[in-house]
Amino acid sequence: MIVALPPDLGPALPRLAAAARPREACGLLVGRATADGVTVTGLAPSRNLAAEDDAFEIDTALQLALQRRLRGSGEGVVGVWHSHPAGAPVPSARDAEGAWEAGLAWLITSGEETTAWRALGNGQGFVPATLSLAATQHAHDHS
Ligand SMILES: [Zn+2]
Repeated sequence: MIVALPPDLGPALPRLAAAARPREACGLLVGRATADGVTVTGLAPSRNLAAEDDAFEIDTALQLALQRRLRGSGEGVVGVWHSHPAGAPVPSARDAEGAWEAGLAWLITSGEETTAWRALGNGQGFVPATLSLAATQHAHDHS
């Protein structure tokens, strides 16, 4: 899976992660499916509803609002982003348990580094994905 990010989003993730410290930052990735992955067009930051500092929980109200807003647009929620303020940018056991939906792209930011993963679903964890910071070829495609 190739996860293509718009040019401005790559640098924004470490800034958002730093702003949330010591909490984990989180949000939903909006975009569209491609032949070999997903093209992300934007990030919808979420409140982190988890009680603990080393966990995150996306606001389901945000998810529902996004799904309503994106209906019929050709775009949808294609992934999940969160930060690891105190750990490496690799999925934790808790992340694997929380990866409920197969095929979603997961991005994890730690420090200045962001890594990409594809969720296997049903709590089975992740396989590494390729992060592409190249300009998105679909960003201005309104056809
Ligand atoms: Zn995590």
